[in-house]
Amino acid sequence: MTRPHRILAAAFVSFVAMGASSQPPVSRPATLRVGMWTLWHDREIALTPTASTMLQTCEPCEKRVLHNAATVGANQHGGLTLLVGEHTMQVRAIRLSGGVTLTAHSESATLRDRVTITARGGTLVIAVTMPVERYVEHVVASESGLEDSTESLKALAIVVRTYALHESHGHPDYDLCDSTHCQLLHWHSDPHRSPAAHEETLATAGETLWFHGRRAIAYFSKDCGGRTASLAEIWPHVDSAPYLDSHTDKFCTKESGGWSSELTRTELTSALASRGLAAPGWQHLSVEHRGESGRVVTLRLDSITIHAEDFRIAVGESLGWNKVPSTWFEVSQQGDRFFFHGRGTGHGVGLCQKGAAAMAAQGRSSHEILTQYFSGAATADESTGKSWQSLARAGFTLETQNASDAPFLADLARARAEASERSGFNPSQPFTVRAFPSTSAFRDATLAPGWTAAFTEGDWIATQPLATLAARHLLLPTMRHEFLHALIEHEAGPRAPLWLREGLVELWSTDPDAWTNLRPRTPVMALDAVDAALLHSTTEAQSRAAHRDAAIYVLRLLDGYGRAQALEWIRSGVPADALARIGQR
Ligand SMILES: [Zn+2]
Ligand SMILES: [Zn+2]
Ligand SMILES: [Zn+2]
Repeated sequence: MTRPHRILAAAFVSFVAMGASSQPPVSRPATLRVGMWTLWHDREIALTPTASTMLQTCEPCEKRVLHNAATVGANQHGGLTLLVGEHTMQVRAIRLSGGVTLTAHSESATLRDRVTITARGGTLVIAVTMPVERYVEHVVASESGLEDSTESLKALAIVVRTYALHESHGHPDYDLCDSTHCQLLHWHSDPHRSPAAHEETLATAGETLWFHGRRAIAYFSKDCGGRTASLAEIWPHVDSAPYLDSHTDKFCTKESGGWSSELTRTELTSALASRGLAAPGWQHLSVEHRGESGRVVTLRLDSITIHAEDFRIAVGESLGWNKVPSTWFEVSQQGDRFFFHGRGTGHGVGLCQKGAAAMAAQGRSSHEILTQYFSGAATADESTGKSWQSLARAGFTLETQNASDAPFLADLARARAEASERSGFNPSQPFTVRAFPSTSAFRDATLAPGWTAAFTEGDWIATQPLATLAARHLLLPTMRHEFLHALIEHEAGPRAPLWLREGLVELWSTDPDAWTNLRPRTPVMALDAVDAALLHSTTEAQSRAAHRDAAIYVLRLLDGYGRAQALEWIRSGVPADALARIGQR
């Protein structure tokens, strides 16, 4: 089940306003530098500013607003030529922030994150500094398939995050590239995959794989063909890891056909030469050595030995990845023609995406999937190394890393009951409350600003540390507020405006006596502006104003049309005549 994703935060309960003293200073969320368009080797790209694009042409220089379209190219001196209107500048690097659209090789992408452009070897190097969780979400959307569902996407998100954070990937200008060399990342969001990728990335935010209390390494590939590869079979120089052994996979073998392809000597020669693996003039190609899974580890080309994974990558890069999709193959030769028959797609180490999707379809959990492919490894929070525990109560499950959170369950249960009482909604499906161990963990996971106390998306609630909320007497009101959100989201149809959902929560969160003070007040913002501000407030004051205005508008709706009608409109959307009537200022 995929629900449209929504961002709703209890901005009324403010950490800053409650006294910033005991809160750590607001720092930047954990980020990764991701190489963009790394296989294109662009020499020139066009920049189109958004309303707030800032440009910086050197490290100590001031940021300036970029008003006009610009072009940036790699020059002959290892630097950049920047052309803005009539002005040409030679610079070493440029930084763009506040949102910008990049265009090259007939592709455009609009980025909100900071972009740094430099040059290396006559081509442009584009590095995008993005929050870890946004990176994971993009990769999960790009690497997942239509057969994936909730639990296999969660498992994939954990593997993708682990791979990104636990290894260095050998790129001098950024942490990871956007090709399959690291993990594939498409810069456009895919309407079919992005909402589910977002949801399952959020549900596993910050979780990585660990083995006996130490950070583990993780890999995934499309289809292991019925038996996974051990680490040593594919990358003999990497230290072995007991959880990356070769084992049979009974989940992906169903309807697993093999593959076959034919390549000419000319094609193979050009592919091998492109990676410097062999010069022209060779005669015979045969398997030299196989590993424990049956995959080819080394090939023999006349008298030289070629590593099979290097061979697969050389053929893939120059002739297409479907020619020799895995190293699990037989090869035979007839004159200048070479016939390959094999199984599986990808290196075969770690998680098998085909098997994971099949396990999820059979009702297995993400933890069962990860145990299947990383035997003995377990998931834990990247920063604390602790695992998440689930404590189920009527109507909700608390996920926490702290055993000392258990006493707060009583307040949570009370908040849940009061939310149902005030709204009249009481679905049987339980909500998930994930209590983060620190403000920074909360903010890194949700990308919500640090002044937000909690955050609801669909039936999933994230909160700041429960002890912090309790110490400020905010636990009950915050949780009641968030449970109200979750209850309303459960009822809401796709056309229910944000101001209606947020305003109802605001009103139901407060005593009806207090509504009397709200009635004569005039909203500051128009209805459309309230929705925009609820989604993208940059300051706490703006968010507060938007919440208050939402409450005023909803009060007009309740006074004018009654509660039953308002609840009906949560499902169907508010008709235009009612909008016009309550929208007057
Ligand atoms: Zn709210
Ligand atoms: Zn890479
Ligand atoms: Zn498999």
